Amino acid sequence: MLKQQPITELLARSQPLLSVEFFPPKSPESVDGLVRAANRISESKPDFISVTYGAGGSTRDLSATVSRRMKDEVGLQVMPHFTCVGSTREELGEIVDEFYNEGYRNIMALRGDPTKGHDTFQVTEGGFAYASDLVAFIKERHPDMCLGIAGYPEKHPEAPSLDTDLNALKIKADSGGSFITTQLFFDNEAYFRFVDQVRDRGIELPIIPGIMPVLSLKQIIRITQLCQSQLPKRLELALRQVEDDPNAVRSIGVEWAQRQIAELIEQGADGVHIYALNKVKSAIELINAARG
Ligand SMILES: Cc1cc2nc3c(=O)[nH]c(=O)nc-3n(C[C@H](O)[C@H](O)[C@H](O)COP(=O)(O)OP(=O)(O)OC[C@H]3O[C@@H](n4cnc5c(N)ncnc54)[C@H](O)[C@@H]3O)c2cc1C
Repeated sequence: MLKQQPITELLARSQPLLSVEFFPPKSPESVDGLVRAANRISESKPDFISVTYGAGGSTRDLSATVSRRMKDEVGLQVMPHFTCVGSTREELGEIVDEFYNEGYRNIMALRGDPTKGHDTFQVTEGGFAYASDLVAFIKERHPDMCLGIAGYPEKHPEAPSLDTDLNALKIKADSGGSFITTQLFFDNEAYFRFVDQVRDRGIELPIIPGIMPVLSLKQIIRITQLCQSQLPKRLELALRQVEDDPNAVRSIGVEWAQRQIAELIEQGADGVHIYALNKVKSAIELINAARG
């Protein structure tokens, strides 16, 4: 079993740090397929894999299973994501201890989105309202745990302004965040501006840009509406022109992401996190292009 290393240590060693995000499948039958996908990805040697954490019980179990199998069977550095949704402190503590005892040394610590049927985040009685509370809680329990926190170059959708969102990010960083992974964006200027604003706030943590290749126009419209990241007009226009040709859409999307990654690395980004949408081929293309 590969010893899990804090991402801060990996950041110091390997530049640029390349990571790939998977989400757990909806059914246990599909876990094998995802583990096979991780096996294929492992050949292009990403620095770590992250696995998202869902809102419901069965999704959470699958998230844990996928993370464990990628860590123990495939031999990858794995960072499970973790949210405050639907759990009391005691329950969160038990899950964090389990992560720790299973050898994980990195957790992406998040608040989570509002659950279905709610416009706003519902705080569980005895649970936490903000990711910063979760970060402080984990840090107190396991000081050597390396914690990823989320940053939003184009502002978190619920924040009244970028200014208040950056203040919240500062609290989260001061609570014990180890590095920032950004929400997806398609215009690198948004990232460069964000880095300046974060540094102006006195936050010195590494900031890993999150890049998602467009693989389907319909899908990306839905995703960008949810997370309120801007799809540049030039990209949208190019995609619309080939809307009925999935291969052409994919090719434009991957090429755009490759150009983004090349520029980010050239301009000294701390690494790149690929929102792979569980698609191996495009993730491998992006890793290989990033390594040059
Ligand atoms: C890299 C990345 C990975 C993700 N992975 C997952 C996942 O696996 N599972 C999942 O369910 N979701 C995931 N998400 C989505 C995330 O849960 C949502 O974006 C969620 O709405 C906010 O989470 P957060 O951790 O940023 O929350 P927070 O940092 O708590 O921020 C939430 C909102 O509250 C405000 N806020 C924060 N602290 C304060 C404060 N002290 N006072 C006032 N306002 C405050 C912020 O400005 C923001 O508007 C991910 C997002 C990113 C960027």
